[in-house]
Amino acid sequence: MSGFRLKKINGIKFFVIDKFEKTGIVDHLFTTKIGGVSTEDFFSLNLGLNTEDLAKNIIENFNRVSYILSTTIDKMVVSNQVHETNIRIVKEEDMGKGLIKERDYDSVDGLITNIKGISLVTFYADCVPLFFLDPNKKVVGLAHAGWKGTVGRIGGRMIDKFVNEFKCDIKNIIVGIGPSIGPCCYRVNKDVIDKFNMEFISTEKFVKLLAHNQYDLDLWEANKEILREKGVKEENIIVSKICTSCNNDIFYSYRKKESKTGRMAAIIKIK
Ligand SMILES: [Zn+2]
Repeated sequence: MSGFRLKKINGIKFFVIDKFEKTGIVDHLFTTKIGGVSTEDFFSLNLGLNTEDLAKNIIENFNRVSYILSTTIDKMVVSNQVHETNIRIVKEEDMGKGLIKERDYDSVDGLITNIKGISLVTFYADCVPLFFLDPNKKVVGLAHAGWKGTVGRIGGRMIDKFVNEFKCDIKNIIVGIGPSIGPCCYRVNKDVIDKFNMEFISTEKFVKLLAHNQYDLDLWEANKEILREKGVKEENIIVSKICTSCNNDIFYSYRKKESKTGRMAAIIKIK
């Protein structure tokens, strides 16, 4: 068992993390592409605000997902992902930004809040979704970790924010590493691996040489390693081990479809 479970409500298929659900204090999910109104390349639950899909379809998809989370889109706050490592501490006045009102921030790949009722939203099509929860202090967070975010240790930066801004004890923090491109499908060249070799003492746990200038990169294990180094307990790191590229029937995959594709979303809120 991966600790991530597929559920279906009102035709929408989505994943939840058992350990997060058991705390009873959060509503959260990772969407699939099933259960929305978008068509063609964006079929059907596309939540990507920066895609070429019709805005009215994206908003309808958001409305459908918000219903499952017992909320409305005016209480959501979205990221603006640029493959960097900036993290925004989300406040009440941010609610609805990027969705029903103008967004006044850029370059945000991580979101954190301790305010009840605010839904944090981040977007994915192969990159790694990281879910964070401290059930004691009631703080939640999401981060978008592609290879650049991973080599920039966005997961570790999130833990630092939990500790420094919210006085969380690392031992209490639970992290979910969601569906994303797996080591089975993620081929990269030496330029990428060089960056990891500069940042990590050892990359042998997550890099495998295939052929000249061809490597398998395991972003799940790399992110796990970053969290372990920070002191997150092994049993508190839940890896879905579900590959978005292998499971095209339920996920959008940027690599497989070459850019023109929809986006899944990770969403979390404190009840
Ligand atoms: Zn795969």
